[in-house]
Amino acid sequence: MPGVTGLRVLILGGTTEGRALAAACADLPGLHVTSSLAGRTSAPLHVAGRVRVGGFGGVDGLTAYLRSERVGALVDATHPFAATMSAHAATAAARAGVPLLVLRRPGFASRPGDDWHRVPTVAAAADLLPTLGEQVFLTTGRQSIAAFAGVTGCWFLSRSVEPPEPPVPARLRVVLDRGPFTVAGERALLAAHRIDVLVTKDSGGAAPKLDAARHRGIPVVMIDRPGAATPAGAGIGASTDPAASPIAAGPVRDASVAGSTAEIVDSIPAALGWLSARAAR
Ligand code: NAP
Repeated sequence: MPGVTGLRVLILGGTTEGRALAAACADLPGLHVTSSLAGRTSAPLHVAGRVRVGGFGGVDGLTAYLRSERVGALVDATHPFAATMSAHAATAAARAGVPLLVLRRPGFASRPGDDWHRVPTVAAAADLLPTLGEQVFLTTGRQSIAAFAGVTGCWFLSRSVEPPEPPVPARLRVVLDRGPFTVAGERALLAAHRIDVLVTKDSGGAAPKLDAARHRGIPVVMIDRPGAATPAGAGIGASTDPAASPIAAGPVRDASVAGSTAEIVDSIPAALGWLSARAAR
């Protein structure tokens, strides 16, 4: 961005929050925002403003990018399970002397009637599954389906934006779809496939699939966030209000940036406030 004055902001995105923040920044004077996408999906949703696509080449590449583009503020708005990118962002920001903000949605919070089984990894979810059910709805993303390839005795329905690549479970049906979903739609899907167990990451945000599982009375295998040290069922800074925005206000703990000097928020207004304060300096 030669000749640009004002605060140059890099948003590491690929999430609803990243898109929402980029759109909100378009209305703020003095901010020059570039969003970065990993390039995992062939048809990504539209992101407002300038967009770059693809990895930076590790910590060194991101550090070099921050310096060469004279980035004045870095926002890590990646998915809670994108642990590598978050770790790279924390290290590169420290090396380049760029302030880092982590925008992270709260985790899910269980409600009365839920039957959640928290596990630390996708592999642990695969181990536990056969003890809980036989007709499985997998919503962990296409890149983690391979972890269930060795699970025998279960039939799988998986949902992802793009088709999974082998290895996959022998008895697998793939639904290609992208949210937002509705509780009615999720209930109909679970009923149509006689689903008796749901597998999900603790991604946070709106999750009608969890409401549908509660209505149906089936167990949920809940995969914890990377490095999470969260008490079972507690979520991370999660709201208990069913009508609450998926990006609620308030502080968030986050193990992925533990030890770094990053500030952490879980709402778009809080992120805008942080950016505005830096733009005004
Ligand atoms: P990851 O394992 O943490 O990152 C792996 C590598 O992908 C990074 O080292 C980096 O490559 C590149 N990368 C990741 N996010 C990037 C970004 N926003 N811009 C540029 N490069 C990026 O990440 P992941 O779990 O594969 O997720 C990839 C992307 O999908 C992220 O942007 C994330 O927000 C989004 N996403 C992830 C999930 C999930 O469940 N993991 C779900 C929904 C969306 P270099 O080292 O070469 O820089």
